[in-house]
Amino acid sequence: MQTNQEIVSSQDMDISILSHFKRLFHESKKVVIIGHKNPDGDAIGSCLGLFWFLHKLGHKPTVVMPNDFPEFLKWMPGNDQILNFDHHSTQVEACLEHTDLICTLDFNDLSRVGSLSALLLNSQKTFVMIDHHQQPADYAALTWSDTTMSSTSEMVAHLIEAWTGWSELSAAMATNLYTGIMTDTGSFKFPATTAKTHRVIAALIEAGAQHSKIHQAVYDNQSPGQLKLLGRALAQMEIKPEYHTAYTYLSQKDLDECHFKKGDTEGFVNYALQLQGIRFALIFIENQQEQIIKISLRSVGDFSVNEFARNHFNGGGHINAAGGRFDGGLTEAIDYFLKFLPEYKNQLNEAE
Ligand code: 5GP
Ligand code: MN
Repeated sequence: MQTNQEIVSSQDMDISILSHFKRLFHESKKVVIIGHKNPDGDAIGSCLGLFWFLHKLGHKPTVVMPNDFPEFLKWMPGNDQILNFDHHSTQVEACLEHTDLICTLDFNDLSRVGSLSALLLNSQKTFVMIDHHQQPADYAALTWSDTTMSSTSEMVAHLIEAWTGWSELSAAMATNLYTGIMTDTGSFKFPATTAKTHRVIAALIEAGAQHSKIHQAVYDNQSPGQLKLLGRALAQMEIKPEYHTAYTYLSQKDLDECHFKKGDTEGFVNYALQLQGIRFALIFIENQQEQIIKISLRSVGDFSVNEFARNHFNGGGHINAAGGRFDGGLTEAIDYFLKFLPEYKNQLNEAE
């Protein structure tokens, strides 16, 4: 792994980043593009958006994900070409061995790729990082990290615009990037959504992204089990008004009884934020197979769930959206959380 050649943190796609991208891609025909474990709309959207763009520039890109992704993203243009490391480990290993360049998108630490981490940590290849999460690790020859960006998909759109202008933007690229931006911004409502984001969205629609169809494909395609599971999460919600906090949980039994499939709980944590006065929301989800509790954290205002997840749940993310894990049982995880919640009383009461 070559490290620390250039670390860029910039609000715009400036000339030096662009020329570094061009130089690296000029020297590399075979490119592997990797998203994070449990890939979401932004991971898939940014990776496939870059995939189609590089393809058009004459490269031979391969997209790799550490594990499977939800059904509601399995219509995205090019999704059938993604190599899933869990299912095709030999093929992925061969790809990583023969590639010239490894682009990591929508994550900034090699611990975020699950069982792929060891292969990446031991790789001597040149890495590129494109990401919008906080505190990037130092593993890439080119780190393009911009925490002001709504999504990694928006960053890929800026890269395309700066590199070739919108003329090279195809409907396949636009559809993937639109999906990534839409899912990471909560349909354009989170604070990181800017005028610049909307200008990108306009270009994506002009290039053929069908916004209404994309919205339907992602959000209006739920199974009865999914809505029943949401019902349980809402019914089990606990509210702590003195901490402006609400949390809920789903046990493995809840998941099994509602025929849980990957991605079914996406967005559940956000419902608690609809409550009056609630600034901090969590969901604890049991994963018996991995023997962990996966925790999703959300906030409104300046209470940082990134800090909270880093301090207590071995995780991270953004100020208002983060994730983490707890090694142990569900009740234990919640008790652990309730024990230190009072330490945040002042912060939560003062948060705006
Ligand atoms: P979610 O709750 O939807 O899984 O994740 C919310 C945000 O936190 C996403 O931006 C995601 O990348 C980040 N995130 C989720 N889980 C983890 C984790 O275990 N570690 C870190 N560092 N970030 C996470
Ligand atoms: Mn993202």
